[in-house]
Amino acid sequence: MGAKTRTIEQLLQALQVTVAFGVETGRAAAVGADLAANRKYFARSGTRVQTITRDEMEVLRGAGAPGQDVGVLRSFQNAARTTFSNRCPGCQRWIHLGSTEHAGECFCGQTYRVVFDLSPEDWSLRQMCCMDCGVEMTTSLAGPALNPWHAINGDQVQCDACALKRVASQAAEASARERHM
Ligand SMILES: [Zn+2]
Ligand SMILES: [Zn+2]
Repeated sequence: MGAKTRTIEQLLQALQVTVAFGVETGRAAAVGADLAANRKYFARSGTRVQTITRDEMEVLRGAGAPGQDVGVLRSFQNAARTTFSNRCPGCQRWIHLGSTEHAGECFCGQTYRVVFDLSPEDWSLRQMCCMDCGVEMTTSLAGPALNPWHAINGDQVQCDACALKRVASQAAEASARERHM
């Protein structure tokens, strides 16, 4: 006998969130699944993981939970207004999470959502940094004219060294193409 499908209110309460925007869902590892209750899937917020049924996953997705093609990056609000970065699940480049919940797209095309429900707070997260090499932006604030940063998109920046590398590799590709023409 399967468990009764929980309502969206019950599911969100169990996950300790108010909206489904940042709730990841997917197939649970067999070892973690509650097979007796037919809960072969998982739902995860920044504080809780629940085993859920397929129907409950549909309920969450219907309420706006992201599909598996969307990465969920978690951060947290803090009194110091410190913001953090985390890695793209698609290409491992760094993404600045900023201070507001939002959806974005990485340089590589991976779509993601940024949510602020991470608990306990993880102060080991990196601050704003170069998307390629991860060097933190704070290190060069003393001499911005000597070490300019390049905005790639709303959430990603590149340090000058990586920008130069990219220009060099683009030039190498272009000349390789010309040789083959
Ligand atoms: Zn990426
Ligand atoms: Zn860099």
